[in-house]
Amino acid sequence: MRRFLVGLGSILLILAAIVGVRTVTVTSRQLGAPPAGTHRTGPVDSVAVAQHLAEAVRFRTISTNDATVTAHTELVALQQWMQRTYPKLHATLTREVIDGSSLLYTWKGTDPTLKPLLLMAHQDVVPVDPGTDSAWTHPPFEGTVDKGTVWGRGAFDDKSALVGILEAVERVVASGVTPTRTVMLAFGHNEEVLGSGAAAIADTLERRGQLPALVLDEGAAVTQKMFPGIDQPIALIGVAEKGYQTFELAAVSGGGHSSMPPRHSSVGRIARAVVALEDHPMPAHRNGPARELLEYLAPEMPLPSRAVFANLWLFGPVVERILAGKNTTDALQRTTTAPTMLQGSAKDNVLAARATARVNFRLAPGETADDVERHIRTVVADDSVTITRVGVGRAPSAVSSTNTPEFRVMQEAVAGAYPDALVAPFMVMAGTDSRNYSGRVAAVFRFMPLSLTAAEIAGAHGTNERVTVANMAHAVTFYEALVRRYAVDAK
Ligand SMILES: [Zn+2]
Repeated sequence: MRRFLVGLGSILLILAAIVGVRTVTVTSRQLGAPPAGTHRTGPVDSVAVAQHLAEAVRFRTISTNDATVTAHTELVALQQWMQRTYPKLHATLTREVIDGSSLLYTWKGTDPTLKPLLLMAHQDVVPVDPGTDSAWTHPPFEGTVDKGTVWGRGAFDDKSALVGILEAVERVVASGVTPTRTVMLAFGHNEEVLGSGAAAIADTLERRGQLPALVLDEGAAVTQKMFPGIDQPIALIGVAEKGYQTFELAAVSGGGHSSMPPRHSSVGRIARAVVALEDHPMPAHRNGPARELLEYLAPEMPLPSRAVFANLWLFGPVVERILAGKNTTDALQRTTTAPTMLQGSAKDNVLAARATARVNFRLAPGETADDVERHIRTVVADDSVTITRVGVGRAPSAVSSTNTPEFRVMQEAVAGAYPDALVAPFMVMAGTDSRNYSGRVAAVFRFMPLSLTAAEIAGAHGTNERVTVANMAHAVTFYEALVRRYAVDAK
């Protein structure tokens, strides 16, 4: 016994020593010194940029699922406005219309051996929910600049990126340089419904042998106070995005009058299946983007958090519990399960002949709809419940490595616009047009160079969508730094 205790004691001592050493020596993954050179032409005229964004918002380029409604006229008007507003860009880059209203611009670089840089944004916006117009501080399509903020549908998602990219490239063109690496701009026209425009552009580039080396689309952003103990803003770079699949569970029974019910009704069996799914989430992934996020943030954390997060080899299960404690962080580590729709009989005194539930899953990278279906069958464990896929599913994206020159250049461009911010990889929950490059391009990033509050994030697809004028100046600085570092200065 004594020998056992001594043995146990020395193992604990060794573990404590490893934890201590790793906690103290864990090295920061942030850029050391700020990158040399400002990589911008001069100060950004934020008032002019904000005015341009406000003008872009006034085009009602609304995407809906109603095939009879077309935003084509508005898209054409927006595109004519782009030609008027960014004349130098349009005189220098070639412009192609693809899939009806999507745009592909090419600024040919001098070195054909370097694969292109591709900057993406979408021209379309979601509709305003009927009846919510009056809740807007400024009418959604008026394009108002008020007290340092640009208001309107699309001001953030995604015309901030569209205008930010156009402004930045216009500035670089105006400075008289020619890029070494080819720069391409891809502006889809139906991201909010089908994304066929972005898919057509990706197919075109693959056919031409012009797939880029770095793709940047919308996604995560610069956040404040996201992790306790970290005071700096954190620029979250989306290195992956989740997939999407809805399943329908159905149970049938004889139906009939409710006065003499069976022991278990179809409604009861579906209810039990739904509860079982909620009680048994899909497994957490300890090696996915959540781990990388923590590896980037751990060195910046104060003690004792750093001791825990810098030693995931030991504290993995503890961290898994911590992440599971909040919906926002739990979604980073696993495929999520969300029961959304339930249906039974249409009358309170009639048994349901058929009861159904729909459960929406957001797939973590590495998992497939088949994996989810197997999980559902095992957990529900009721052969009388049928399980079918409904709607169009979407596979999760591949994960872009952070250990590449492309991720580093993203860090450098962030440092140009947000010198105080930390950079960390992240997983984006929503789908973006950039999924068309998953598996075709190794470095696909989803990042909006905007520093956003929770209220501002809620504006996308919601009420009072807006972006600050200061954010737009940062966005232009970021895109310009990226173009200059990765394409103009490419060697
Ligand atoms: Zn968007």
